[in-house]
Amino acid sequence: MRKRAELYRGKAKTVYSTDDPDLLVLEFRNDTSVHNGARIEQFERKGMVNNHFNYFFMTKLQEAGIPTHIEELLSKKEVLVKKLEMVPIECVVRNRAAGSLVKRLGIKEGIILNPPLFDLFLKKDVQHDPMVNESYCETFGWVSKENLMRMQELTYKANNVMSKIFDNAGLILVDFKLEFGLFKNVVMLGDEFSPDGARLWDKQTMNKMDKDRFRQGLGGLIEAYEEVAYRVGIKFC
Ligand code: ADP
Ligand code: UDP
Repeated sequence: MRKRAELYRGKAKTVYSTDDPDLLVLEFRNDTSVHNGARIEQFERKGMVNNHFNYFFMTKLQEAGIPTHIEELLSKKEVLVKKLEMVPIECVVRNRAAGSLVKRLGIKEGIILNPPLFDLFLKKDVQHDPMVNESYCETFGWVSKENLMRMQELTYKANNVMSKIFDNAGLILVDFKLEFGLFKNVVMLGDEFSPDGARLWDKQTMNKMDKDRFRQGLGGLIEAYEEVAYRVGIKFC
């Protein structure tokens, strides 16, 4: 499938149109940003690692009955996907306390959250992705009640599938973010799942193996992503 015009350049990926109006190419770049783009750095191999990471997990989720946008891995940094009408909402599941939850509630990092929490954030960089809830989605028309319920159901299902995979690899899936969209009125998982949008801790050492290494200046970002990929069994082409 040939790439056509560049449609959108986000903080980590570039989106291209293709010859088929229903399909897009996502190119994973080496850029890493925090605070909604306030600090950006490039890391060798990052685009390649996240593209493979995402393809591996989206395939597992698809096999588990979660509809995803994935069509085909095209190259080291590119994947062919269905063009979705994206819902401007981030769905977050939290199995343990970390990040903004710890700051907001003043609780201890790492406490187990049972049952896992489900949070919604509006995708709006200039407002720093504010937290919202179901009634905001309905009132502002970001997504219907029915589709939001489906997004929640699919996010929890993804949590079950991925928590098991990480657990078998000696890792804890602390929290993660997913984005959904509509394809011919069907809710599908879009965007990406990678250590950029998830927290992964080593079960033994509790070492952080995700983007918090960049956020907190711990170093070894890509080495940690590669270690996770190796343990989970992801092969790079
Ligand atoms: P951001 O927009 O947050 O800076 P990225 O750099 O990851 O993020 O850019 C990728 C963009 O592509 C995001 O805005 C995302 O919502 C959008 N996107 C991801 N998957 C699809 C898809 N299947 N169809 C349409 N848009 C998509
Ligand atoms: N997350 C993300 N994109 C965002 C905000 C959060 O991918 O714009 C992910 C983040 O990596 C973590 C989870 O969602 O795995 C929960 O993030 P949190 O609300 O704790 O915010 P953060 O501390 O990451 O700003």
